[in-house]
Amino acid sequence: MNLLQQDLPHSNNFINGKWVDSQECINIENPATGELIGTIARATPAHVDQAVSAARECHNQRRIAGMAPYERMQLLHAIAGEIRALATRGGMLLCLENGKPLSAAQWEFEEAARYFEYYAGMADKIEGRSIPLGDGLVDFTEYEPFGVSAQVIPWNFPVSLVARSLAPALAAGNSVVIKSPELTPLAVALLGEAMVKANVPNGAVNILCGYGHDTGAALVAHSDIDQIVFTGSVATGQAIMQAAVEHVVPCVMELGGKSAGVVFADADLDQVINSADVGNLFNAGQVCSAMSRLIVHESVYEQVKQRLVARFSAKQVGAGLDEADVTPILTKTQLDKITAMCARSQEQGAHCVLGGTPLDKAGYFMPPTIIEADVQADIAQQEVFGPVLVLMKFNTPKEAYDMANGTEFGLVAGVFTKDLSLALQASRQLVAGQVFVNEWFAGGISTPFGGVGKSGFGREKGQEALYNYVRTKNIAIRLTP
Ligand code: NAD
Repeated sequence: MNLLQQDLPHSNNFINGKWVDSQECINIENPATGELIGTIARATPAHVDQAVSAARECHNQRRIAGMAPYERMQLLHAIAGEIRALATRGGMLLCLENGKPLSAAQWEFEEAARYFEYYAGMADKIEGRSIPLGDGLVDFTEYEPFGVSAQVIPWNFPVSLVARSLAPALAAGNSVVIKSPELTPLAVALLGEAMVKANVPNGAVNILCGYGHDTGAALVAHSDIDQIVFTGSVATGQAIMQAAVEHVVPCVMELGGKSAGVVFADADLDQVINSADVGNLFNAGQVCSAMSRLIVHESVYEQVKQRLVARFSAKQVGAGLDEADVTPILTKTQLDKITAMCARSQEQGAHCVLGGTPLDKAGYFMPPTIIEADVQADIAQQEVFGPVLVLMKFNTPKEAYDMANGTEFGLVAGVFTKDLSLALQASRQLVAGQVFVNEWFAGGISTPFGGVGKSGFGREKGQEALYNYVRTKNIAIRLTP
C-alpha cells in the first residue's frame, strides 16, 4: 500500500472460510467523481490454487454435496437472511464503486437474497427418473453436482450476478470459486461475511478479486475445476472457452447483446416510451439486456421519436448518491469508447438526434443519446454499453424482423402491439433467448434467461438454471435371481 491507500477501506479475498490479504492491491474508484474509495487485495494465481484446492477438499469431504437436500435448503435460506442484513452497508459500497442509484444498489442485495430463497425451494426437488428395462433390471438416473464450479462475474450487477450463479450451484451441492470483477469488487467481497454468519462450510464458497488476464485466466485454465459459468463480454467468453477446451470443461456463457424492440402501428405509445426509458437508461445503459435499438413502424415513427426526445432530454444525469435518473459510466475508458462510437456513427451517415457527447464535469457522464441509423451501421450492430438508443423505421413485419435479427447477438427482444396474435407471431420470429411483450425487463428470477448466437448459451435463472449445475448419472442394476 502507498500513503494514499492507507486511509482507504480495504477488502480481502475470502478463501476456505478465511480472509486472505495479498502483497498487492487494486484501487477502486467512484465513477461519479473519479476519486479513490477503497482497495482490495489482488489475488494471484497462487491464491487461485488455494481457492480451488479448498473447494476441491470441500467437495471431496462432501461438506455440501453430502448434505441432506433439506439441509441445503436451510443453508440457502440462512444465506438469504444474511445477505439481506448487508443491504444498507453493501448498498452504499455498491453505489459508490459502481455509480448506480443507492436504491438500486440496495435492491441488488434484496434480489441476491431472493435468488437464494428461490433455489432453496429447489434444493430438495432435484429428482431423477426410473427407466424400465424389463424383469431382472432396475435403472434410474441421479443428478449429481459437478464438483468445483468456477464463476467469473462482470461489474454491472456484481452482487445480483454472483447470487444468480452461486445460489443454484450450492443448491445442487457444488463448491464454488468466484472471480469478482476488478472494477467493482467491494460489495461482492462483503458477501463473504454472509457466508461466515450463515455457517457455510469452509471451502464451499471462495471469493477472489483480481484482473481477468491473470487471476481470471488462471481460474478458468485450472486443471482441477469441473465447470465454468461466465457472464461478461463476447471476447472474454471466447478466451474462456478456449481455456476450457484444454481440460474439456463444460461452460455456461452469458454474453452481450444488441437487443431490439419492435413497435407496431397499434402499439400503446405510453408503454413504448416507458419501456424505452427503463430499457435504455437503467444503469446508464450498462445492462446486457438493455433496449439498445428501437425499430418503429413508419406510421408512428415521428411521434415516437418526438416523445422519446422529450422524455430523454428531461432526465437528470448525475451521481447514484443523488438518485439521478442517469448515473455515470463506470470508467473513463468506457466513456471515451462510447463517445468515439457516437462520433463514428455520424461519419458513417447516422443522425444524432440527442446527446452524443459527454458532460463537461468531474466523473464519467454520458447524457441520454438517440441516434437514427441504418441497420448495418456499426452503432446499430455493436454493443455500446451506455445510454445510447438507435432508432430505425420499418414498413412490413418482415422488414422489422430482419432488422431485429440482423446482428450477431440474440439476447432479448421486445414487441409492442395490442394484437396478441401479432405479438405471438413476432415473438416466434425474433431470434433471442427471451421476448418481452409490451414491457421491457418483464420477468424475473423465476424466468429463464440466456442468449442465442454470440449472446452465449445455457440458461441462468428459473428452474432451467439448476440443471447447469448438475450432471446426469445413470445407474443400471442387474438384480440377483
Ligand atoms: P468482461 O468480459 O470485460 O469481464 C467480465 C469478467 O471476466 C471480469 O471479472 C474480468 O476480470 C474477467 N476476465 C477478463 N478476461 C478474462 C480471461 N481471459 N479469463 C478469465 N476471466 C477474464 O465484461 P465486463 O466489462 O465486466 O461486463 C460487460 C459485459 O458483460 C457486456 O458485454 C455485457 O453485455 C455482459 N453481460 C452479460 C450478462 C448476461 O447475463 N448475458 C449480464 C451482465 C453483463
